[in-house]
Amino acid sequence: MTNAKDLITREDHFGAHNYHPLDVVLTRGKGAWVWDVEDNKYLDFLAAYSAVNQGHCHPRILEALVEQSRRLALTSRAFRNDQLGTFYQKLCELTGFTRTLPMNTGAEAVETAIKAARKWAYKVKGVEKDRAKILVFENNFHGRTTTIVGFSSEDQYRDGFGPFTPGFELLPYGDAVVVEQALIAGGDDVAAILIEPIQGEGGIIVPPDGYLTRLRELSTEHNCLLIMDEIQSGLGRTGKLFAYEHEGIRPDIVIIGKALSGGFYPVSAILADDEVMDVFHPGDHGSTYGGNPTAAAVATAALDVLVEENLVERSARLGEYLMEKLRALESPHIREIRGKGLWVGIELHPKAGGARRFCEELRERGLLCKETHDHVIRLAPPLVIEEEDLDWALQTLGQVLSSSPVAATTSQPVA
Ligand SMILES: *Cc1c(COP(=O)(O)O)cnc(C)c1O
Repeated sequence: MTNAKDLITREDHFGAHNYHPLDVVLTRGKGAWVWDVEDNKYLDFLAAYSAVNQGHCHPRILEALVEQSRRLALTSRAFRNDQLGTFYQKLCELTGFTRTLPMNTGAEAVETAIKAARKWAYKVKGVEKDRAKILVFENNFHGRTTTIVGFSSEDQYRDGFGPFTPGFELLPYGDAVVVEQALIAGGDDVAAILIEPIQGEGGIIVPPDGYLTRLRELSTEHNCLLIMDEIQSGLGRTGKLFAYEHEGIRPDIVIIGKALSGGFYPVSAILADDEVMDVFHPGDHGSTYGGNPTAAAVATAALDVLVEENLVERSARLGEYLMEKLRALESPHIREIRGKGLWVGIELHPKAGGARRFCEELRERGLLCKETHDHVIRLAPPLVIEEEDLDWALQTLGQVLSSSPVAATTSQPVA
């Protein structure tokens, strides 16, 4: 019999210490619920950072995974496979872009977008060799490769990993005037603006109304590409298929990942129209696993589930309900509540003692949340969550957030 303590000890003994997880050892999941090795049940309010929007172990996606991997799992792109075209078509028809390029992890898709933007700058826009510049934003999160952490504003993500890739300029998030100034100062060298339409890891930061629209106007005016990283915000999380749709705009490149596979398998991609995507020629870019038959079959099923179960509309409807109930919570600890759809950040007052201890307390009560930065509790349940489970979560959040700091650390009888 393996117990939780033993498993944690082994993990910590043999593994690199690059995460600080809550000490809950999960062994199975279904829908919005997960179970630990002692058979305690938890409501998952993180959904693997939005990778399991479709819920844990969705039977239909599971079926696609098992079926496809039994038949043919990997071919590499040296050969064609019978799943890829169907997946491409589904994804393009759903999103309205003419082409896609698949990768595996989110960070790889971000790298792909950066490569596309630079090549577009040199081959189409006519930027002088090695001068292309990409505007990025403070508090961003785009993944963990050395190029990407090089333009992070988070000291810890960069510390000890330099030297970094040049060609990125960091600007404050949410201020369109500084973007305009950077575009003017950058002259013709700006290839792209790379932005999260809502910053996820940054603490569910929603930019001011009209900001993304203004970035769209500026990109068009200055002939640079607008790239939206929708890896966490996309595929229904905010109550629209993509978060940028809240402003009725259309970027030039969209980056997706996470929920693209419903949590079964790493699948990511970029979406763009011909003018941008046609900069890639055979041999320019690739990945051994990118676009493999298993990935294509799994992602096709994950997209079908999203559409057929109306998960985007569900996120909008339940998200509105969640926000309304949260705003009605009486809590001495809450400084701000923000978000869209089933994606909410509860920012706590600095004197509340950090979000971590609330997450620990919620875990005790069967609700799994993860802090982002020190003072924000992130709520992001699978989009399939049942209304009664959402109500239970709200009640539990209410109990934990309304308690005084002292009471929160002593156990109270729950009626
Ligand atoms: C998670 C995330 C990434 C990185 O995805 P990985 O699959 O972890 O590499 C990039 N951008 C955003 C906005 C993300 O949330």
